[in-house]
Amino acid sequence: MTQSAIEIRDLRKTYAGNKKSPAKEALKGVSFDVPQGQVFGLLGPNGAGKSTLINIMAGLVNKTGGSVNIWGHDIDSDHRNAKLNIGIVPQEIVFDPFFTPFEVLENQGGMYGISKALRRSEALLKAVRLEDKRNAYARTLSGGMKRRLLIAKAMVHSPPILVLDEPTAGVDVELRRQLWDLVGEMNAEGVTVVLTTHYLEEAEQLCERIAIINHGELIANKTTRELVDMAREKIVRVSLDKDLGGPIMEEAFTKAEVIDNRVLEVTYNRDAASAGQVLALIQQHGYGIEDVTTREADLEDVFVQLTAPAEGA
Ligand code: ADP
Ligand code: MG
Repeated sequence: MTQSAIEIRDLRKTYAGNKKSPAKEALKGVSFDVPQGQVFGLLGPNGAGKSTLINIMAGLVNKTGGSVNIWGHDIDSDHRNAKLNIGIVPQEIVFDPFFTPFEVLENQGGMYGISKALRRSEALLKAVRLEDKRNAYARTLSGGMKRRLLIAKAMVHSPPILVLDEPTAGVDVELRRQLWDLVGEMNAEGVTVVLTTHYLEEAEQLCERIAIINHGELIANKTTRELVDMAREKIVRVSLDKDLGGPIMEEAFTKAEVIDNRVLEVTYNRDAASAGQVLALIQQHGYGIEDVTTREADLEDVFVQLTAPAEGA
């Protein structure tokens, strides 16, 4: 039997209100499993409840109801083992500016009771490419370096699960790639990675499976492939053998856009037509087709469909 890395059941969180703000139900009974060995994406718009969920796993937020099981250990009844099996990098970066990266990792190793001989601070600094910053004060590190140091810190006790809350929010393209590589390397070594992001391209590239939450509710939990395949719209761009005499519109098309004298781009719903039918319809207007390119809908299209407010709401 393969056990899940993380099991979340009916997880609920209501933040108590005060004079200034009413109570907020941030998680409304969320259930899903994170399979072992995967890179798992937790997606959702701002305010969806992603950080609340992660902070509950990290012990930073007390849940209102439901359960979380980490690597076979319940976070309530077996808190110690649950904690030992997960490394979490919260969304907010905080750490003591007066320690060096090496000291940060050594201190963390000490907190987990790992003997000096067994600590792997040097290897971790190398893994996150901070070996040349070994002795620099943490306050002198760039934002990206700090984030990498926090990843190393989360891995000090060699947990089988690494959780990253918005690891690439506000970082430049170069650094984002570095972090992606790092996630890939950790995963290749067997670490189950959970990350939240609102960069859909990132989730599509990195994650095997994606759960989407919106307003505290789980609205999807599928393989990335399945999610992307949910997109109903398809786009085909055709080069014609002569100039377009005028717009071409057919019932089967959602949209037909003239891109250039001889280039037409047709958007169609794949439930209503096939690419072959689209091309045949264009030919029926008396055009020969010289070239065809299709654009697959991507995760962004699906995400927008799923999280769009219901009409009339
Ligand atoms: P996400 O990480 O998906 O952007 P969060 O989990 O941070 O979402 O927030 C979910 C909801 O809970 C939001 O409406 C947010 O304003 C609210 N919230 C988050 N933290 C607190 C808090 N400490 N007190 C009150 N409300 C909070
Ligand atoms: Mg967040």
